Amino acid sequence: MNPLAALSIAYLLITVCSASILYFSFNGKIDASGKYFFLGELTIIPGILGIALINLKPQFLRPELLFIVNASVWISNVCVLFSTYALSSTTNLRKFTLAILFSAIYASVIEVLRYQNASINTLTLFVSITDVLFCFWTYFICKSTKENDLQNNLFFGWFKYIEVMLGLFAIIRIISCLTNDAPINARIPSTPATIFYILFMILNVFRYISYQSLRISWVDPRTNSINPLNRNLAVVTQEKNSLLQGLIASNRVIGIGAMASSLAHQLSQPLTTIGLQTETLKRDLSKDSQNEDTVTALDKINVQLSKLSNLVLNLRQLFNTNQNEFYSINLSSAIDEIIEIIEPTINSKNIHLKQSIVKELNILGDAIQIQQVLINLLNNAIDAIETSNPPTREIRIAASSVNDLATIHIKDTGGGIDSKALPSIFELYKTTKKDGMGIGLWLSKTIINRHRGEIFAENNSIGGATFTIKLPLSPSHS
Ligand code: ADP
Repeated sequence: MNPLAALSIAYLLITVCSASILYFSFNGKIDASGKYFFLGELTIIPGILGIALINLKPQFLRPELLFIVNASVWISNVCVLFSTYALSSTTNLRKFTLAILFSAIYASVIEVLRYQNASINTLTLFVSITDVLFCFWTYFICKSTKENDLQNNLFFGWFKYIEVMLGLFAIIRIISCLTNDAPINARIPSTPATIFYILFMILNVFRYISYQSLRISWVDPRTNSINPLNRNLAVVTQEKNSLLQGLIASNRVIGIGAMASSLAHQLSQPLTTIGLQTETLKRDLSKDSQNEDTVTALDKINVQLSKLSNLVLNLRQLFNTNQNEFYSINLSSAIDEIIEIIEPTINSKNIHLKQSIVKELNILGDAIQIQQVLINLLNNAIDAIETSNPPTREIRIAASSVNDLATIHIKDTGGGIDSKALPSIFELYKTTKKDGMGIGLWLSKTIINRHRGEIFAENNSIGGATFTIKLPLSPSHS
């Protein structure tokens, strides 16, 4: 058997196998680039079959079969070109169809020229120049892709350089045509022609292997959930990205913490001095009964000063990670203080705040941390109302005792919690907001758990969300 025929049959089998592997490895969920590459594998099959037939029996050397060979190779090249382009950009089906039509017309023109007795060297020259164009075009598409991960991928590099090698092969053919010594002559396959064909086959097999390896090792940022070849890698990459984002966010929080801690430290000294000076002033002024109003004003200043000192103390405690002491705290006073802070914001946003708070609810804990949780929940409720803009803009805060538990409900009339996000909103870095950090609820849950309590969220039947906190009442609670 003519060696080129035998090689073509082997090449045909390899191509059928590689096309099947490609198709089945994608599990039917093949993406645009995969589809084009798969089509490229399929469309080269008639071409290889043609080469095998031509080399098997000289009577097959007919313009129709030569047309099939050339058209098939070029259409396959068009597919590879579009497959490469589709790796990082959106392709256009109209352009693809036009490119295929053009390839078929060009293959017919070659056969018309052959019919008009154009020399074999002239025709091989045309064919080879076209091959060079295809290979270098594909190479330049690879080179100009802006996707960094793709450019850094080892197999993408292989793929790129295999295109250059295939292009160089075609250049050798051009040179041999010009020197009147074409290495591939279908009728009499010389040894160099056979070697040339073997190398060409090997390069094409490597092109397939590098494409397949690329699709296993590279996660397409647009369709990372589609490609089943690298689903695990996609998950790991996604986790890495959210961890990185989280690290940046935590870094910011640590920065804010350090700033707040240093500010608290710097504020404590002048606050003590102001307190002492106020006391001295008050003592001097109280000697004269005419200064009664001024003394009352100084008393008010003192009250505010002690609040400020407490705040500074709490701020320092909050960022002191070793501090873990719990005291009996009055929940209703803690809630009142938070409402005092947040009320101006709520009013400015035209939100109505309804309260139903039972007095004398005592729990064992850290007031600042519990207040931090309440601020997070109230801020989220404000955000939800602001985003969904409901006709009734209302937040209800209720606190009562049920059995041995203090129970706090914060209910809003916002858009409610996204049903997909609901099961994971207390997880770290889970957010549905454009500028959200996804830390607030996670931190709230951590704080409540440290207080041996629980926190959960649900959507209201009439819209909006309700967050419920349950905390054990302090043993001294009566
Ligand atoms: P962030 O506010 O930065 O997004 P959070 O941990 O505080 O982080 O909240 C996590 C997610 O929970 C929010 O992105 C939002 O989707 C949801 N969520 C929290 N509170 C509410 C609420 N009251 N109504 C609707 N969704 C909410």
